[in-house]
Amino acid sequence: SEDADYLISLVRSIPDFPKAGILFRDFMPVLADARGLKLLIDALIAALPVAADEFDVVAGLEARGFLIGPALAARLGKGFLAVRKAGKLPPETVSEEYTLEYGKAAVEVETTAIKSGDRVLIVDDLIATGGTAKAAADLIERCQGTVAGFSFVMELSGLEGVENLSQYPCSALMIMP
Ligand code: IMP
Repeated sequence: SEDADYLISLVRSIPDFPKAGILFRDFMPVLADARGLKLLIDALIAALPVAADEFDVVAGLEARGFLIGPALAARLGKGFLAVRKAGKLPPETVSEEYTLEYGKAAVEVETTAIKSGDRVLIVDDLIATGGTAKAAADLIERCQGTVAGFSFVMELSGLEGVENLSQYPCSALMIMP
C-alpha cells in the first residue's frame, strides 16, 4: 500500500556500521517524521501477533525497543516494562545471559517488575538472529511471566530469527533483504 511504501522509504540503510560488512537498518527517520511515526504505531497495532486482550504489559528491549514500546502501550491502555542491558539497573535484578557472535551479553529486569502470570508482548525495532529476543523471553519466563508474542518493526531475512522464536506468535512489519 501507499502507507507501507512510505514507511519503508523512511528506513535508512547504512553500510559498514557498526563494523565492515554490516548493513545497518536505521528506523530513526521513521520516528522523526510526523506521518511516519503515526503510521508506524498504527501498523504495529494492526499487525499485533495476538489480540490486545491477550497480554497485560508491553516490554521493550534496550534501546530502540524503548522508543516504540511506550507509544504502543499507551495506545492500547497497557503498561510498559524496560528490558535492560546488563549493569544498568540498581539491584536487585534478574539476569539472562546469551551468546553473541563474539562473546556474551545479558538482559535484565528488576526482580519485582514482572508479577506471576503477567502476559507480556515483547517489542523491538529489529530481529536479526533472534538471540536478544529469545534471551528476553527466557528472562520473562524465569520471572514467572508468560510471553504472549513479539512485535518487530523489521526482520532481517536469511538469519532464521523468527524461526528461533517459533514457539511464540511473532509479527514484523518489514522484511529486509
Ligand atoms: P539479534 O539478537 O541478532 O536478533 O539482534 C537484534 C538486536 O540487535 C536488536 O536489539 C536490534 O536493535 C539490534 N540490531 C541488530 N542489527 C541491527 C540493525 O541493522 N539495525 C538496528 N538494530 C540492529
